[in-house]
Amino acid sequence: MGDIAKLRRLIDGMRIEDNPQLVKQKSRDFYWYSPVLKRQLDHVTGDLVVSPKDEAEVVRLLAAAHECEVPVTTRGAGTGNYGQAMPLSGGVVLNMTELKGVTGVKPGSVTAGAGAIMFELDEETRATSGQEIRLHPSTYRTATIGGFIAGGSGGVGSINWGGLRDLGNIIRARVVTCEASPRVLDLTGDDLGKVAHAYGTNGVITEVELPLSAAYAWIDVLVGFDSLEAATRFADDLGHQDGILVKNLAVVSAPLPHDYFLRHQKFIRRDQSVVVVMLAPHAVGAFETFCARKRAAILFRSDKATAEELKGLPPAYELSWNHTTLRGLRVDPTITYLQVLYPYPNAVDLVAKMARIFGDEVPDHLEFVRFNGNVTCFGLPIVRFTTEERLEAIIKTFEDNGCPVFNPHRYTLEEGGMKQSDPVQLAFKGEADPKGLLNPGKMIAWEDPDFDLGSGKLYLFPGIPAAEQA
Ligand code: FAD
Repeated sequence: MGDIAKLRRLIDGMRIEDNPQLVKQKSRDFYWYSPVLKRQLDHVTGDLVVSPKDEAEVVRLLAAAHECEVPVTTRGAGTGNYGQAMPLSGGVVLNMTELKGVTGVKPGSVTAGAGAIMFELDEETRATSGQEIRLHPSTYRTATIGGFIAGGSGGVGSINWGGLRDLGNIIRARVVTCEASPRVLDLTGDDLGKVAHAYGTNGVITEVELPLSAAYAWIDVLVGFDSLEAATRFADDLGHQDGILVKNLAVVSAPLPHDYFLRHQKFIRRDQSVVVVMLAPHAVGAFETFCARKRAAILFRSDKATAEELKGLPPAYELSWNHTTLRGLRVDPTITYLQVLYPYPNAVDLVAKMARIFGDEVPDHLEFVRFNGNVTCFGLPIVRFTTEERLEAIIKTFEDNGCPVFNPHRYTLEEGGMKQSDPVQLAFKGEADPKGLLNPGKMIAWEDPDFDLGSGKLYLFPGIPAAEQA
């Protein structure tokens, strides 16, 4: 655990919070999305929260942590939903939200502090240059850009730009190492892979440079269908329209839109599956033509809604990605979800096949994306949860049918999104965090190099008593 008293002396003058209740609050994220993670991680808490005001204070903290051997778990807004930001070994929770300034906007790019909230960042780039970031999670209004790069994978905008780790979606990340004399490194090109989606296990990101595209006043549209299959086909066809600019394209299977989208409920019949679209204003005419050709029924358009109708309605991106699940959890706390890839070119058929196999036990929610240059879809299906054994059986059925599952019920990098060890991230951890103090327990390759990822057994992190994981 290290010498916390000494660390406190070394960082004297920095903002520290040690009230156990407040520290516990800042030691959680949305891990409770998963009944499995909730059981495993509920007790986790750090010892203190440190909130540096600038990069120099981050450097000072990491030097002190190295000297005192105190673990440091970096936190943006704590909206990650796999326990990524939870300090499994206690120690410091490093709150990055003070490093939030936008320091440069150019045609095509922005530079900002890692703690900048993405919505606020866009407000500034829109006002100063008519541009916006190309990709953001559905937690746009609360999450930090550093947390997105370290813990996210893609989201709104992925229909055009693919995933966050695709080349070109991050221009530069400035990273502080955890050594006796921390280094400040500007990572670009291939080096970005060292820290993108590494959960802050091998460096603390203080500043990022990201690409921008033209900003639009996106129009939210809901289109209704009598079957999931018809909705999926429509979305797949729309995703393949080269001339119609959309920023997000989701499909939500009946009865979820009616049951979960409470503020939009008045527009949706319970037996309707819905396609949720964020549409560029200049694409409205083409989109109407496309809908007429497909005989598709537009249920709601934000550009045609009255002020009264718009009151209290969340934006379309907050019906999408993990917000669909969040809305579901508010209505029915017993549900959970999965993350599935329906690979190109069979996505539409696979969606129909899995819906036939699972029926209402696993109602689907799809997000269309560009994946390796092709338009296909991820599933974030709702699971009507019964037992962990059944959840594992559902995962196996997806995988047996050619749909890889990125398990959101695991807190380690490898078992969740990556599905394998990343040797580049591991090697960088050896250099940048030789004492293994950054977010301990999240990179299996570091903690347990012999771990067999194919074994299916749960990873036992030494910081969590085995009883918690049984
Ligand atoms: P945190 O949760 O605080 O941190 C995430 C990870 O990054 C942690 O491991 C943390 O240690 C690390 N970290 C944070 N800041 C830094 C830093 N400066 N340097 C190094 N490491 C750091 N994710 C998506 O990708 N797409 C989505 O569409 C999406 N939708 C979501 C919807 C809901 C309702 C919820 C609950 C989650 C969703 N997420 C999504 C997950 C999460 O909201 C995003 O990834 C978000 O960008 C995380 O940002 P944050 O500031 O909350 O990071």
